[in-house]
Amino acid sequence: MESTLVLIKPDAFGKNYTGEIIKRYEANDLKLQALKLLKMTPELASKHYVDHIEKPFYPSLVEFMTSGPIVAMVLAGENAIGKVRALNGATNPEKAEAGTIRADFAESVTCNAVHASDSKENAAREIDIFFDKTEVFA
Ligand code: UDP
Ligand code: MG
Repeated sequence: MESTLVLIKPDAFGKNYTGEIIKRYEANDLKLQALKLLKMTPELASKHYVDHIEKPFYPSLVEFMTSGPIVAMVLAGENAIGKVRALNGATNPEKAEAGTIRADFAESVTCNAVHASDSKENAAREIDIFFDKTEVFA
């Protein structure tokens, strides 16, 4: 059984897409193990997006990710990391496959509705950033 970290970003949370997005994960045999609302801070962003700090889009990414509440969750299931990324679709919603979360709900390459871990190593690292061990129900 694999676990992954998902964030519903400020654009999707603000437009009340949270329930619809979680429903898609649950309908695909992914199980919630942890869930919370929070506001990302620049410090939290620099931990979570450590691999992107030097990228040209990083300042606008942080401005967006700190602009309003986000939903953080841990989802578990068979091939959860790959499955969630497939359900989310491509980073750029214009390139996201029809029926994916980003195709349906994202606004732009930056304001793209959801985040999901991209490897087992990053999933473990990211889950640890957002959740205390006592908050995860495995
Ligand atoms: N991003 C951006 N501009 C880009 C590429 C990415 O603003 O040209 C943002 C976007 O919100 C994306 C996040 O940075 O989700 C992390 O980028 P990554 O390449 O890891 O995409 P993801 O794994 O989220 O699909
Ligand atoms: Mg990524």
